[in-house]
Amino acid sequence: MIMKRIICILMCGIILLQFSSCSFSDNTEATKNITAMNTVMQITVFNTEKGTSEEVLNLMVERVGEIEKLFDANSPDSDVSKINQFPGTPSDETASEEDKLFLHEETIDVLIASNGAYYGTDFAFNINLMPVLKLWGFDNGNYGVPDDDAVKNALATVDESSILIYETEKYIVKSEGTQISLGGIAKGYLGDELLEIAEEYGATALVSLGGNIVLCGDKGDNKKWTVGVTNPDDTGSLACSFRCNGNRSVVTSGAYERYFEYGGKSYHHIIDPATGFPADSDLLSVTVVGENGTMCDAYSTALFVMGKEKAVEFAKEHNDYDFILITKDKEIITTEGVTDVVLEDDGFSLVKSVQQ
Ligand code: ADP
Ligand code: MG
Repeated sequence: MIMKRIICILMCGIILLQFSSCSFSDNTEATKNITAMNTVMQITVFNTEKGTSEEVLNLMVERVGEIEKLFDANSPDSDVSKINQFPGTPSDETASEEDKLFLHEETIDVLIASNGAYYGTDFAFNINLMPVLKLWGFDNGNYGVPDDDAVKNALATVDESSILIYETEKYIVKSEGTQISLGGIAKGYLGDELLEIAEEYGATALVSLGGNIVLCGDKGDNKKWTVGVTNPDDTGSLACSFRCNGNRSVVTSGAYERYFEYGGKSYHHIIDPATGFPADSDLLSVTVVGENGTMCDAYSTALFVMGKEKAVEFAKEHNDYDFILITKDKEIITTEGVTDVVLEDDGFSLVKSVQQ
């Protein structure tokens, strides 16, 4: 009887093994580094259930090109450039036929998500900051510190500006002066698109888009990925690491990602829409984990602007996401869903997790 059970278990084991080895049509690793959307990207496909790793990788790389073409503010044919060059309607006029700007469906989707993030973050996330970003040179790398009046004037257009989105007809009507930057959300959207490709082919893949990581599928025997969070004080090392389920994005925003120095001061690229200046945050970085990478991206930028206190409140109210906040006081604050956290740098301390 016991013998029979052992054989039975062994057989089950073999069946499972056979099943798992047949379930992948390709176990060859395929990887590519590309530079797109102002950042170095790395895509690695480990295995697939349909098609080959190489095929899935190529589809992903192609998608990166398509999305970049739509959202690159520096390419004259992109939808973002079309929006920024479009004259728009003076606020006291009703829109006429010429005021409609037709756009690709993907662009409409990102504008809708951006609008949701704008209202959902108490206006900390705002894609209409382009006139302000231009003053600081964050649009093209010609950095400089603008004078207060210039910032005030640029902010006035941001406040008044708006975009009306006509979702079904796929066009927008914008106010005169409105200029957008999708720098805080486009990579999140791209990550979601790449995850969709991976899911379609049953692929296990790791996508790294600068501060954004997409974990496609499950990894290893216990099916979790180990993810490291960059040490904001020493970007070549980690502050902590944690274990994370697949089919999720992990997005980090921090002042260290892009900045310039002038007169002994450092100016970074995350702008507080209330002041038009780099956010004077008590956070060093914000990491957001979730199934919706587009919103993870927008939220990571917004929570950095909000600062610790508001960010913790926000985290409590958004239990579809997990958050890791690193403060200037060297605390690492995590939500309860962040598991197996390991401190990688003794200079930081792990504080009690936030209940959601
Ligand atoms: P990264 O581009 O390094 O991944 P973020 O996702 O935090 O970082 O996005 C920062 C970019 O978003 C900036 O370079 C700028 O283009 C834009 N941006 C800056 N401040 C804001 C803001 N308050 N809301 C929305 N977008 C912003
Ligand atoms: Mg962002």
